[in-house]
Formats: sequence, C-alpha cells, structure tokens
Amino acid sequence: MSKKIQAIRGMNDILPEQSAVWQYLESTVANLLKRYSYQEIRMPIVEQTALFKRSIGEVTDIVEKEMYTFEDRNGDSLTLRPEGTAGCVRAAEEHSLLYNQIQRLWYKGQMFRHERPQKGRYRQFHQIGVETFGMQGPDIDAELIILSARLWKELGLYDSVTLELNSLGSSDARAEYRTALVEFLSARKDELDEDSQRRLGSNPMRILDSKSPETQALLDGAPVFEDYIDEESKAHFEQLCAMLDAAGIAYQLNPRLVRGLDYYCKTVFEWTTTELGSQGTVCAGGRYDGLVEQLGGRATPAVGFAMGVERLILMLQTLDAIPAHVSHQPQIFIAAVGEGMATQGLLLGEMLREKTDYRTQMHCGGGSFKSQIKKADKSGAEIALILGESEVANGEVAVKFLREAREQETVSLSALIEFLQQTGL
Ligand code: ATP
Ligand code: MG
Repeated sequence: MSKKIQAIRGMNDILPEQSAVWQYLESTVANLLKRYSYQEIRMPIVEQTALFKRSIGEVTDIVEKEMYTFEDRNGDSLTLRPEGTAGCVRAAEEHSLLYNQIQRLWYKGQMFRHERPQKGRYRQFHQIGVETFGMQGPDIDAELIILSARLWKELGLYDSVTLELNSLGSSDARAEYRTALVEFLSARKDELDEDSQRRLGSNPMRILDSKSPETQALLDGAPVFEDYIDEESKAHFEQLCAMLDAAGIAYQLNPRLVRGLDYYCKTVFEWTTTELGSQGTVCAGGRYDGLVEQLGGRATPAVGFAMGVERLILMLQTLDAIPAHVSHQPQIFIAAVGEGMATQGLLLGEMLREKTDYRTQMHCGGGSFKSQIKKADKSGAEIALILGESEVANGEVAVKFLREAREQETVSLSALIEFLQQTGL
C-alpha cells in the first residue's frame, strides 16, 4: 500500500463536529455586522506579492519571513494573503468604492503565514476583518470598538477579554520618536535580545512590544511617546477615550502597543485574553490613514480590525460558552422497520421539515429494529420516531425517548408535532 498523503503542517481540517461551532461564530458575527450596517466584501485569496510588500512593509515579520510566495506559470510573483486589509483596500480602490465615499466593509476567510505552528497559531488560519473608509474622526474608532465589545457580550466572552489601547500619532511624530528611541537603545545595544538588536536597524518601534523581560526592563528608562505625540492625534485619542468611557467600555492604556504592521497611525487596539496562554490576542486593529494613498489611491482615512477565528473558537471551548443548540446532531431520529416503511419514514421526515425546524435524521439502509435503535442512540438524538407496519396502518408513530427514563408512547400522526413540542424538544 502506498503511503497516505497528509495535510500540510499548520493547516487544519475543520471536522463536522467542529463546524457547527464555526457556523455559530460566523453567523453571530454576520448578524451583528448587519445590525451595524456593514457590508460584506469577498476578495481573492491570492494577490500580487507587491501588494503586501507595499502595504504591510518590507521589514515586518510577515513580509520578511512569513509569506507564502510563489511564481505562477507566467512568472508573476504571487502570494497567499497573510491578512485581509491590503486586499480589501486594493479591491475597494479598483472598483472605485472609496472616492468621496464612506464605506463600512467586512470579510472573512483564510489567511496564510509561515509561522511555527502551536496552539492558537497556525499556517492557515481564519480572520474576520472589518474595515471602514472615509471617516477621520474618533467616533468611527469608537464605533468599531463598541461593536467588538458587543460581539464579545453576545458570545459570552466579554468578562474574559481586556481592551488595550494606544495612539501611534502622526507619521512625523512617530519619526521623531523613533529617532529618540534608536538613540537611547543604540547606547544599550548589547543589553538587547537578539531579535531586538536586529530590529534596531529596521523596525525599532517593534522593540517596544518585545517579549523579552530584559528588554522590557531596559525600556522602562526609554523615551516615552507621550512626549512626542502631535496635538491632533492627542485630541483624537482623548475624544476616543471619552466616547469609550461614555459607552461604559473599560480599557487599559498600553504605551508599548505598536502592532506588527507598518501602516498604522493614531489609534491602535487589541483585545487580549489570559485564557489561551501566549497566543492571547484575539482581535487587533487600528487606524491606517496613509495606506490607501500608499497603494496609489487618494488619501483616505481608514480604520479597521481583524479577529482570529481559531483563537475565538478556542476561547468558546475553554470557557464552555457554546450554547446547547449549537450542534449538528439530530434531535429526532426516524427508524422505519419493515417492508415499504422506508417510504413512510421519508414522508414523515418531510412532514416534520415542512412544519418544524427540528434537526431530523432519517435512518436509511433498513435493518432490524434493534440495529436501528442502536444507531438512533449513537446519533445523539433525543427522540426516535419508530414506524412499523401496525403504526402506519393506524396513522400512528411510536415515540421512544432516548435520553430519559420514560415509557415509549404511541401518538397519532396528526397530533405528533404538538406532542413533540410538549416534550420540550
Ligand atoms: P500575533 O502577535 O499573535 O502574531 P499579529 O499581530 O501577527 O498577532 P494580526 O496580523 O494583527 O496578528 O492579526 C489579527 C489576529 O489574527 C490576531 O490577533 C490573531 O487573533 C489572529 N492571528 C494572527 N496570526 C495568526 C496565526 N498564525 N494563527 C492563528 N491566528 C492568528
Ligand atoms: Mg504575528
């Protein structure tokens, strides 16, 4: 026998027993976004490599070492998208959705990054992203954060997440601060961890969120951005905080929150949790007023965020926050025993699906009463409806309770739905 081919490391199958939870999460998000009047956009998974280099930044982790880049048969350099913002901006610009317009868009789908796979970190993972364009005030930043807070509430996760907030100011303010930071850290280069030493020359702001405790201790004496932030960004940030206060949303100011991508300015935020170990960021975003122009469009204010679907699913599981109705298991199992009974079973199933929303599974393939009841039990159903020749002749069905010690009952077909409802199903 030849060796079986397996899935690629870090790329997971979502099996049937999991997909109900995915559908629950996705439909909860879709429903919420509809109530905020956001519109879905669907972009291709593959884009030109240049799009990501130009938007995410050449010296970021993603572009330097995480992208799945390949040459297609024409010799063009293509990349499996590592995130959704760049493609969303590209699509919106290409189809003239941005010129003098306000857009509130969202998308969901696979992203690809060549990282070391571990719990909460995969090479193919899913994001649901939200991007808004054409609004420069802090009110839209607040709306996005309030919207995400509502989502955590609806999912039962709100008590387990923390909102971290920072402002990166204008690009001028950032440049000035960067110079001061580099000056400070260069004098202490030997004390920095290896990653941070490398970043000193390429992306020094990222040193601020270094995971190394030694580097973090060193940073305690470093210049703080507060002393460099421009007046406009400062006012923007203060207004945002006031709006969040008014909405009753708690946050922690984190001056070391910088985000890994080049395109952010002003507001940046992350929702984090302590439930998932070191992969604790479940949602991250911020303002990126310069990106549309950087990609060849007209200057357009923009702000958005993306959530990591796998991490949210892990959280729902860890916290036991998956509602009981989220299941693909049937509630009702139809067993049909005897000559010609399969047809009756199919018809009974259709009658139920016509008039109710019960998840109903018809046993196909015949077999003895005993074997069908075994399958009913294994299916996870609450109730088995049994059709035999005598039941059908009398216009009745036998109702067997699979999960409670209750006598089997015979019910007339015309009264069946009412009976099922009375059982609490
Ligand atoms: P991290 O610091 O965890 O690497 P990031 O800053 O690279 O995150 P973003 O690019 O902002 O992440 O992506 C937004 C969200 O997508 C993250 O907060 C996380 O929930 C999720 N995410 C990012 N990378 C992965 C991955 N490799 N596997 C699973 N989820 C991921
Ligand atoms: Mg990352």
